[in-house]
Amino acid sequence: MNTKEIMALDNEYVMQTYGRQPLALKKGKGAVVWDVEGKSYIDCVAGIAVNNVGHAHPKVAEAICKQAQELIHCSNIYYTEEQVTLAKLLAEVSPHNKAFFCNSGAEANEGAIKLARKHTGKGEIITMENSFHGRTITTITATGQTKYQKNFGPLTPGFKYVPYCDVDAVADAITDKTAAVLVEPIQGEGGVIVPPEGYLMELKKVCHEKDVLLIFDEVQTGFGRTGQMFASQTFGVTPDITTLAKAIAGGFPMGAVLASKEVGETFQPGDHAATFGGSPLACAAAKASINVIIEEKLLEKSRENGTYFKGKLEEIKETYNIVKDVRGCGLMLGMEMEKECGVMVDDARERGLIINCTAGNVLRFVPPLMISKDQIDAVASMMDEIIGDFA
Ligand SMILES: *Cc1c(COP(=O)(O)O)cnc(C)c1O
Repeated sequence: MNTKEIMALDNEYVMQTYGRQPLALKKGKGAVVWDVEGKSYIDCVAGIAVNNVGHAHPKVAEAICKQAQELIHCSNIYYTEEQVTLAKLLAEVSPHNKAFFCNSGAEANEGAIKLARKHTGKGEIITMENSFHGRTITTITATGQTKYQKNFGPLTPGFKYVPYCDVDAVADAITDKTAAVLVEPIQGEGGVIVPPEGYLMELKKVCHEKDVLLIFDEVQTGFGRTGQMFASQTFGVTPDITTLAKAIAGGFPMGAVLASKEVGETFQPGDHAATFGGSPLACAAAKASINVIIEEKLLEKSRENGTYFKGKLEEIKETYNIVKDVRGCGLMLGMEMEKECGVMVDDARERGLIINCTAGNVLRFVPPLMISKDQIDAVASMMDEIIGDFA
């Protein structure tokens, strides 16, 4: 089928929940994807920070194929070696040592909220303005942006919002009913907002003093995106609970809630569950993907490529007044424009570059971590022309 035919079927049979690009993708390899007409694109979206190990990584593909021929799914009322060995691997690479497995970021945040409420015996959750935590009723409630909540009330009770990067506001909002503070270490959908030095550390101090749990939503920042396996390590601040999804299994759907032994042991049999959570197939994909990150030194690559890429974007910023800011960490980069930048996304696509625009005027660059310097150079020269046309 060609792009037009695919778009027509989508329009007829799929609920129109996405503002889709007129692009039908067929295959990928590393940091490149191809559409159904055979045109190639450098992928700086990577499934929105999902394909950290690149498209069609042979080790991830092999792990999935092998596992699919053995056992795709079994109920969580039984044990599997894949699930326990993944949990052990996550304990080795993260600051936590207990895991609960689910299937998405929203589900991970739901699980974290349940865990925090049960552990503290309290109901209130403080989240940040301009945040993003998912699309279920409770996670749109946690999301501090009314555009995601409109038309879907009544929302879940017990949520309070404070401005991002304002520790005093959090301290003031905490009451004797507060269970937890939920925060993205870097706001992703909100426009790649990196908090100022010391913010997360101070936040942890306030939470600790007031006996409130700190939850990091690392759904987007996890698995090498910011230059370390987790942003908690990049910033040197350990939360009580971390939620994960997106890149965890190299593109295979999976989510996880990680916690300390003490917090994690709050969940008892019957408290929480997910039919598909931690299936042998998802766990095999996750183990393969995490091992690729380690073996292929993708954390170093994220830091190196991130610095190089950011430098290139900063050069462009010097040339054009329309570029307001370049920011980010590792390979989670944002370029804030003076005006809405949707048309730049279209221009980029026509030139063979996939980027996306978030928060209206922020171009987001979250490519596979193994993107090469040559590819970054190609992206930079296209961006130079695109912005030149736009300015
Ligand atoms: C993408 C995202 C989510 C939601 O993940 P889904 O898998 O789409 O449910 C939650 N939090 C953050 C920070 C995200 O970037």
